[in-house]
Order: sequence, then structure tokens, then C-alpha cells
Amino acid sequence: MAKNFTALALATFLSLPLIACVTTPKAQMATTESFVIDSETYQSTSKSQRIKTIVLHYTVSDNERSIKTLTTGNVSAHYLILDKNDDKIYNLVPESERAWHAGEGGFSGRTILNDTSIGIEIVNAGIKPEYRDALKDDTLDYHPYDHYADFNELQIKKVAQLVQDIARRYDISPKNIIGHADMAPSRKIDPGAKFPWERLYKEYGIGAWYNEADKQEIMNRRTLVTPSVQEIKQAFRKYGYQINNSDEWDKPSRDVIYAFQLHFRPLKPTGIMDIETYAILQALNMKYASRDDFY
Ligand SMILES: [Zn+2]
Repeated sequence: MAKNFTALALATFLSLPLIACVTTPKAQMATTESFVIDSETYQSTSKSQRIKTIVLHYTVSDNERSIKTLTTGNVSAHYLILDKNDDKIYNLVPESERAWHAGEGGFSGRTILNDTSIGIEIVNAGIKPEYRDALKDDTLDYHPYDHYADFNELQIKKVAQLVQDIARRYDISPKNIIGHADMAPSRKIDPGAKFPWERLYKEYGIGAWYNEADKQEIMNRRTLVTPSVQEIKQAFRKYGYQINNSDEWDKPSRDVIYAFQLHFRPLKPTGIMDIETYAILQALNMKYASRDDFY
């Protein structure tokens, strides 16, 4: 009985404003007249671009299968760069819509990156077929540089033109031009060690790179006290990486080191913290102050 009474009372309560709404003259007016949206008279100055990040990927398959997966599957990217000698960059999803490329993870304090990023897929085999089982025996934790397949030169030129244009149009912070591995280090390793981040920075002004002199200076400090695991993890966080709070280099933490090395020390990605990796991280933090707006 009590239950019925409550349901009845709720139904009565809910129906009241509905009846009121339907019968007021004002509400009727709103449905019959059309109003003008005035976007000229008043303008706000507090605003920023919705797109904050560019995420680069490789497809781990050939042209044909990449096209099929990205156009008919349940994953997508805004742009696709084929491994083909033509002059095309394919736009699969309008920039104003979400593509499903990033998945779980985060960077620079943002998660759900599909909401705020442009995704670019590059056709590339990823790990060469002969090395795909290399991590199955226990001697190797991570793929070294040589295991990764090369990108062709034309692909890199297309990436350069495209990223330059997107970064300029949305005023994207250099730090926020990242690889999939940077935002999801325990799930992803793309675009891998052969993706030429350093070259893109030096030849096209794309993305972030450290000053060599800063790195050397940090490495040569005689008085350098070995930083604690927590201090190093804090430095990763400062740069933008998501990393856990544990006091050790557990697997998820080593995955972050590996992703960082794939990006900034690709010739020797080990997943192990060392002085050069630390110096690069610190040099990057010295150069790139946090500039993100979170409004
Ligand atoms: Zn990816």
C-alpha cells in the first residue's frame, strides 16, 4: 500500500507542472514564434579551441586492411596516411566530429582524448613480423629500435604538412603533439621507435624537443643526487604523463619510461630509468612550462 501511495503521489506531483506548462500562454508562444540568434551584439573574450591534442598512430597493417578497418570497423581516425606514392592525405572523419582513435588514457591532465584531439593513422607494420614473438621468451621486456618497421619518406612529408597545419589552426601546444603510446603507455607502443619526432621538430618545427645543452648540463652535474622514484615520477607528471604513485618501477611505471624513450630517445628504448632519460625529461620540463588552460 505504502508503495502504491508513493507512486501515486509522485505521479500527481509530476503531472502538475506539466499541465501548468501546457496551459500557460507564454509556453504556447514559444512554440509558435521563431527567435533570432544574435551573435554580433555581445561577444565573450573567455574562450579557447576545443581541440587541444594531436595523437599519432600506426595501423599495424597494409593499405587495404587499414582502409577497411578505419572506414567500416568500430575504430576510426580523422586522417589516414597510406603507404603509397600518391599526393593524397585521406580525411575520414570531419575535424568537428569525434573519431574513435585514442581510447582509455590521458595526457597533460586530460582524459577521454577522443573529445579533444585529432587522430592521425599512418600505415606501417609496427613491429616487423619476424620480431612479433620476441617478447614471449622472458629475456626481453620491450622491443628495441631495430624491431620497428621503417616509415617511407613520403609518409613523413605528409605527416609534417598535416600536423603543421592542424597545430597552427588550433594553436596546439608543442607538448600536446603526442604518440598513442604517450597517452596509453601500458596498452600502446605506436607510432613506435622509428617515428622521427626529432626530425619533425628540427626540420618542420613540429612538436616538442629538448635542448641538447640542457641535457648535457644535467648529465654532467657532479653533485647530482640520485633522485628518488617519487621525484622522477613527479617529473613525468609535470611533463604530462600519467604515472602511478608506487615507490617502485613496477611494470605500469616502466611502460611510461618505455613510451617516453620511444618518443625522446628512440635508439635505446629499454623501459629502464637511466641518467640520460632523466636528463632529457628534466631538460624538457625546463623548456616547456605548463601552458594549458583548463577552463
Ligand atoms: Zn594507435
